[in-house]
Amino acid sequence: MSWRDTEAGELRAADVGRIVTLAGWVGRRRDHGGLIFVDLRDHTGICQLVINPERATDAAQTAHDIRNEFVLRAKGEVVARAADAVNEKLPTGEVEVQVDELEILSRSTPLPFQLDDEGVDEPLRLKYRWLDLRRERMQRNLRLSGTVISAIRRRMEELGFVDFWTPSLIKGTPEGARDFLVPVRLQPGNFFALAQSPQVYKQLFVIGGFDRYYQIATCWRDEDLRADRQFEFRQLDVEVAFAEREEVLDVLEQAVVASFEALDREPPARPFARMSWHDVTARYGSDKPDLRFGLEIQDATELTRGSEFGVFAGAEAVRFLTVPQAFSRAELERLEEVAKEWGAKGLAYLVYDETGEVRSPIAKFLSESELRAFGADPGSTVLFAADTPAAASRILGGLRTHLGRELDLVDKGRQAFLWVIDFPLFEWSEDDKRWTFSHHPFTGVMPGHEELIESDPGAAISQAYDLVWNGWELGSGSIRIHDQAVQTRVFRALGLSDAEAEEKFGFLLEALRMGAPPHGGFAMGIDRFVALMADEPNIREVIGFPKVASGSDPLTGAPTPMPEQTLQELGIRVLDSEGAAVKIVPPDRSLQTDARAKPARPDGRRRKPAP
Ligand code: ASP
Repeated sequence: MSWRDTEAGELRAADVGRIVTLAGWVGRRRDHGGLIFVDLRDHTGICQLVINPERATDAAQTAHDIRNEFVLRAKGEVVARAADAVNEKLPTGEVEVQVDELEILSRSTPLPFQLDDEGVDEPLRLKYRWLDLRRERMQRNLRLSGTVISAIRRRMEELGFVDFWTPSLIKGTPEGARDFLVPVRLQPGNFFALAQSPQVYKQLFVIGGFDRYYQIATCWRDEDLRADRQFEFRQLDVEVAFAEREEVLDVLEQAVVASFEALDREPPARPFARMSWHDVTARYGSDKPDLRFGLEIQDATELTRGSEFGVFAGAEAVRFLTVPQAFSRAELERLEEVAKEWGAKGLAYLVYDETGEVRSPIAKFLSESELRAFGADPGSTVLFAADTPAAASRILGGLRTHLGRELDLVDKGRQAFLWVIDFPLFEWSEDDKRWTFSHHPFTGVMPGHEELIESDPGAAISQAYDLVWNGWELGSGSIRIHDQAVQTRVFRALGLSDAEAEEKFGFLLEALRMGAPPHGGFAMGIDRFVALMADEPNIREVIGFPKVASGSDPLTGAPTPMPEQTLQELGIRVLDSEGAAVKIVPPDRSLQTDARAKPARPDGRRRKPAP
C-alpha cells in the first residue's frame, strides 16, 4: 500500500474518471446535512473531497469525527463538479473526489489558531511554528528560499567555485560584533568562539591554493536582534585568488541575477551602479541609500559662510534637502523629532507656500542671495542641517529615508542595486579614542594610500565594497591585504602592539609570510536577500525557526539554565559583575519580537570592538 498516488493540487478536468489516493491535512470540513465536504491540503494545493453516505457508509462514519488539521488518506473517483459548484479561485476547482475509502492517519487537538486566520500574533505563530509552517505564506517563503539558494549554488559552481566547509568552533574573528563563546570540557577555562564569519579560513583556503572558494556559511553574532538580524544567519561567502575588485563584483552580480531568473523575474540590469562612499554619504547621507527615489542632499556651506544667521555662519557644514511639499507647523515638529533622533539639535526650515511666500523663523536672517539660492518651487520645504559634515549628512540622510517612506516617493517598480566602493580604511572611535577598522582588519588599502596608514589614518581609503539593494545592505567584501608587512602596519594603526597582533593573529601573519596570492572576496546575507526577494519586512518570515528579540526561542524555551553538575564539569561558575554567585534565573519567556532598545547608533552601523 502506498500512502498516496496523486497530489491534491494537481487534479484537473482531464483527470475525471481516475481513481486516486490522496493524503494530506484537513483544511476545512463542511457538513451539508448528509454530504460532508473536506478541503484536503498537501504541499501542492487543495482538493475537495465529497463523502456521500449513500456511496460510502464507512467513510461517512469516519468523516463525522474529523476536525481541522487531522491527517487523512482518501481513495475515490475524480468527478466533474456541477457548473454552479465550480470554484474559479482554486486550480482544482473544476473537479472533486467522490470518496470510497477514508482513513484518519493522525488526529489534532484543538488548534491555538486557525491556519486561515489573518493577523495571528507572531509570538503565537513562533511557539506553534509547525502549524505556522503549514500556512501558505511560510510554504511560499521557505520554498522561495530553497529555490534562491540552489540557483546561487548552481551559478557559483558554473563559475568554477568549489564549496568548502570551515569550522564553527574557532578562535574569534573580529567582524564587529560580540562572540558567542563555547566552553571546552577538556580544557576548563578555555573557550572557542562560534565563527562570526569564515573570514580567516577562507583567506587560508586561497593561500592554500584553492583559487575559488564559496560556501553558504552559517555565522553567529551576539548582537541585539532586529528585523534584519538574528544571532545566527547564513551568508553566501566567497573568496577569489588573483582577483581584482571588478571580478568579485561580477561574481556577486551573477549570483543575484541567477536568483531573479530562478524565480522567473526580470533580473536587474548589469553592471550594477557603483558609487564611492564619499559620494553616497554626501548625496544621500547614508552608506546604504535607497536609490528608488531622488531627494538628494545639497551643500550650502560656502554660500552661508558669511550668513547673518549665526548657526549657519558658525557651522562646519550647512546642507539641505528640498522636499516637494509645503509642510504644516505640526508636520515640521514631527520632522524635528526625527532629525533629533539622528543627532540634530533642532531643525531649521524654509516653507514656500502655494503662492511662493516664505514661512520660516530664520527667513529674516537670510540675505536675498541666500533666499534665492534656496528658492524652491511654491509648495515645497527646504530642511537644513548645520553641523559637522558627518553629522549634517547623517541627519539629512535620516530625514530623507523617513520622507521617502512618508511621502510615498519610492518607485516600487524599480530594483535599485548599488555597489558602494572606496570606503575609508579606518573610523575614529570617540568612545575608545582610537582608530578602528571600518570593514575588518584584513581589508586591503587602496594602492598609493599605504603611507597614510601612519601619517593620516582618517584619509586612507580601503579596497572595501558593500552591496546595497533598495536601501538594505546585502553584504560587504574587500580585496584583502596579502602583504604581511602591510598587515602588521594596519594592526599597529588599530592600536595592537606587535606582541598582541602575534598572539591574536600570529597564524595569519605567518601564512602571509609564506606565499599569499593577492585575493579578495565578499559575503552576502542570504536571509536578508531572501526576505527582500519574498517582499517580507523581516528575516524571521524566511527562517524556519527564528529567535525573538529577547534572544529566546519561543518554540523550545531556549536558552535555559544548565544543571550545576554540567557547569562544574566545564569549570564554570556564574557570577555577577561584583563576583558574587548568581542565582540562575529561569529563561526569559517574554515573546517580544523586536528589540525595544534603539541601536547604539541610529544609522545602525555596528560598533567595532578591538580586533
Ligand atoms: N567576512 C566579511 C563579513 O562577514 C565579509 C568579507 O569580507 O568577505 O562581513
